[in-house]
Amino acid sequence: MTVRVAVVGGGTGGLCLAHGLVRAGVDVAVYERSRTRTERLQGYRVHIDPRGAAALHECLPASSWDRFLATTGSAAHEFAFVTEQLRALAVLREPPAADPAAAHHSVSRISLHQVLSAGLEGILWYDKEFVRYETGPKDVTLHFADGTTASADLVIGADGANSRVRGQLLPHAHRVDTGIVMIAGKAPVEAAAGRFTAGPVYVVAPPGCGLFTAPHLFPESAVNDETAAVDPVLFDNTGSYVMWGYGARNLPAAVSELDGAGLRARVLDLIRDWHPEVRALVSASPDASVSRLPILTSVPVRAWSSGPVTLLGDAAHSMTPFRGIGANTALRDAQVLCRKLTSGTEPSVAVAEYEREMRKYADKAVRASARSAEQFVSESRLRRALMRTMFRMMGAVQKLRR
Ligand SMILES: Cc1cc2nc3c(=O)[nH]c(=O)nc-3n(C[C@H](O)[C@H](O)[C@H](O)COP(=O)(O)OP(=O)(O)OC[C@H]3O[C@@H](n4cnc5c(N)ncnc54)[C@H](O)[C@@H]3O)c2cc1C
Repeated sequence: MTVRVAVVGGGTGGLCLAHGLVRAGVDVAVYERSRTRTERLQGYRVHIDPRGAAALHECLPASSWDRFLATTGSAAHEFAFVTEQLRALAVLREPPAADPAAAHHSVSRISLHQVLSAGLEGILWYDKEFVRYETGPKDVTLHFADGTTASADLVIGADGANSRVRGQLLPHAHRVDTGIVMIAGKAPVEAAAGRFTAGPVYVVAPPGCGLFTAPHLFPESAVNDETAAVDPVLFDNTGSYVMWGYGARNLPAAVSELDGAGLRARVLDLIRDWHPEVRALVSASPDASVSRLPILTSVPVRAWSSGPVTLLGDAAHSMTPFRGIGANTALRDAQVLCRKLTSGTEPSVAVAEYEREMRKYADKAVRASARSAEQFVSESRLRRALMRTMFRMMGAVQKLRR
């Protein structure tokens, strides 16, 4: 295939796609807004599920896949549902998958980005902030903030939740604020009680709020040689930690003015009656690790007519983080689009097929993530009581547990 592909955005989905296309010999260039690779790195971990792992395995060259596996945290095979007093409602256990390409992984965002950025010399261009595109009779011209342009036969907008490519392609597609705010932080693993290091924990709290924790246990053998010089809390990629996220609706507007220390104090106040081990986790989180995230979601749009510009990942379907599937869906997009573009089909047909397939699973993922967000912060006592009963049943019934 002689088609020239331009990917706008060198994030999770865009870089995975670029690797897949390079492997298949397709002419591809990635244009990333950040000036350097470390400019916008964040310290939280990401859960890669079997679908995301399969996409990475298929698209990455073998050396990058091995590097990915070497940087993942030790896998947790337990998922606990507890009350705010840490009474277990259910503990789900899954035996580890023998095949790493079909397994769950915990990976630091920094490591994932390091792995995905490597091996793309001459393909991945930094400091290229996309501004707009122009469709001509032959190809598409991309305009960047530095005044330069590039042309391609096919443009993939992989520029994240606030995608400018989407803004131009689908101006009617929008994201809505759910009114939910998450305050998230990370505590050193030494400060975390055993319950929090065994696997993710969902604290089914009293109505109106929820708390989720997830450990990232860094393998002792792995090292990170690149980020030592920058902020040790946000960018440290070698320490083990437990991340937590407290979510609620209707937090006072003043929360948006608080710094990390203020946000942590606010959460500690909101959970003052909770089990001391939960409070200890929050207390131990350094100021710089605590941040506030307003939760938005995209609203699925009707099918659009396919053309030489398409979307991938959050640009196409940003979702709340309450299911932990946004990155996995972006990776799936990369895998599906890569397969279609390298199948020998006419590129316009390949894009149309990709969009049809992507819309089906992405709409489901967006809806499921929105539902999970609502359940997380539900104000309804009845609903909360039903949830607890459901988890107790899950814990008690082996068949359901599986
Ligand atoms: C707290 C939290 C926890 C999460 N946990 C998980 C999890 O455990 N598992 C999971 O699957 N998902 C998780 N997600 C969701 C996940 O982070 C995203 O869905 C995923 O990163 C989307 O990937 P992407 O490639 O579409 O976009 P991104 O990774 O955001 O990449 C977009 C890229 O485009 C670049 N860009 C933006 N604008 C421009 C421009 N104008 N020009 C050029 N480049 C541009 C950006 O700099 C960026 O590099 C979480 C999200 C949050 C907020």
